[in-house]
Amino acid sequence: MVVALLRRTPGTLASAVRLHRAAIATPAARFMSTHVTNAACNDDEPNFLGSVETFFDRAAKISGVSDNSLKNIRAVDAVLSVKFPVQMDDDTQVIIEGYRAQHSRHRLPCKGGIRFSDEVDLEEVEALASLMTYKCAVVDVPFGGAKGGVKLNPKKFTPAQLERITRRYTMELCQKNFIGPGVDVPAPDVGTGPREMSWIMDTYRQFNPQDVNAAGCVTGKPISQGGVRGRNEATGLGVYYGIREFLQYPEVQKQTGLTGDIAGKTVIVQGFGNVGYWAAKFFQNNGAKIIGIGEHDVAAYDPNGIDIEAIFKHRAEKGTFRGFGNAEILETPIEVMERECDILIPAALERQIGLRNVKKIKAKVIGEAANGPITPAAHEYLVSQGKVVIPDLLLNAGGVTVSYFEWLKNLSHVRFGRMNRKWEEAGKSKLLTLVEENAGRQLTPQERRAVIHGAEEHELVYSGLEDTMIGACEETRATAALKNTDFRTAALVNAIQKISTVTAQSGQMFL
Ligand code: NAD
Repeated sequence: MVVALLRRTPGTLASAVRLHRAAIATPAARFMSTHVTNAACNDDEPNFLGSVETFFDRAAKISGVSDNSLKNIRAVDAVLSVKFPVQMDDDTQVIIEGYRAQHSRHRLPCKGGIRFSDEVDLEEVEALASLMTYKCAVVDVPFGGAKGGVKLNPKKFTPAQLERITRRYTMELCQKNFIGPGVDVPAPDVGTGPREMSWIMDTYRQFNPQDVNAAGCVTGKPISQGGVRGRNEATGLGVYYGIREFLQYPEVQKQTGLTGDIAGKTVIVQGFGNVGYWAAKFFQNNGAKIIGIGEHDVAAYDPNGIDIEAIFKHRAEKGTFRGFGNAEILETPIEVMERECDILIPAALERQIGLRNVKKIKAKVIGEAANGPITPAAHEYLVSQGKVVIPDLLLNAGGVTVSYFEWLKNLSHVRFGRMNRKWEEAGKSKLLTLVEENAGRQLTPQERRAVIHGAEEHELVYSGLEDTMIGACEETRATAALKNTDFRTAALVNAIQKISTVTAQSGQMFL
């Protein structure tokens, strides 16, 4: 049922807000996508939401969960759709569209990023929200899944306009109870970052001055606004940990012919934003060779390896990879994914590998840093060719994992390590003194410092993230072996079973 509300907000023009249960789109519509990023897909391949549902259905069949429970898990709980005007510098007004979908409220708050892109639509947001639910379950983060989107190209707006739009969108979320530390907690996604998260928190706080936990209404904030050290790089670091883990598995080594070392591996990354940049950086820091990077305009390819900091600086100064060192520039950037490499990391957008290009993919391991980069038919083909696909809901879960740590920090109102660091150092120091007495040798100041050093906040965050990723990879691997299936289906089976247990044990109100 769709409920349409027309409201007038003080000092602005009328704002049209629709708040409704989901299931608006017809199944047919789900198989027609309007995206311009469809070069990789045949027309009859499902759109992003259709892809997520197809993957879900495959896993559902072997999950052992009842049909009623599956129906309940699969449906998007609620969506908010808003339209509001924003004043441009020449005094004209443009109407901005925004969405927030809460896929599952089996655990609260709901959690999921906010995307600023001119390709945002309701179904994309629903697809991303669904993935968030499954992702949180895979890494045991006790949240439901949500996602938000504002349909605009951030490059076409000034910072002042973007701030007005972000604040206005947040106001809509506040008024409809779609944001709050116990309700729904956004985070960065494509086109947004710490700056936007700061504006969101400040706006929420203005509307909720009595909420002592206001900082927990959004994650991915700058440190000065209650952010946690390590959140910025968390998704890329999680991608690194996850791929490193899979390469250790004997069955993966057998299937791909690759060794377990990161050092010496050739890597191609598509998308050089937050996730792609950090993933590339961690791979390079650990000895891998980044030989290709794709962006929306061109791609850079150099079989001798690309220095990540140097190309980042070049692009920041010139706005493009063109003219960077000896790199070959590919005018059709998606083609960089077809080059020979050990590991391919799509880190840009959904639907980048479909039936039109899947047969040209040569990488042995494909690590989905982006959400939904491979269509179901392409995934099936890759798996049939013995390639290892590490799925988005597992591999890019580092972001939400560290968002969870940030939220915990906000609710506890204290930096990680503040209460115990010195205490632990003092304890270890006493222990070392005893060891020195028994060994008959004094440690050097450097040796002593290395042992007694108490963990800083970012070290605790990295450690929690690494532990989470290793555990989730192991669980996925175990289910893949048990069910004799691919890693995506296995991760989804784990998610479905965990969500079903939570909903079953909490009982059903008003059923
Ligand atoms: P971002 O906006 O920081 O970066 C995206 C990059 O991709 C930009 O540099 C953009 O220019 C580039 N790009 C856009 N279209 C492209 C194309 N067709 N080909 C190549 N490059 C293209 O966004 P991000 O936060 O890095 O997110 C990237 C992906 O990772 C998205 O799918 C997002 O949903 C997913 N993700 C992000 C996070 C996070 O913490 N930011 C967490 C989990 C998943």
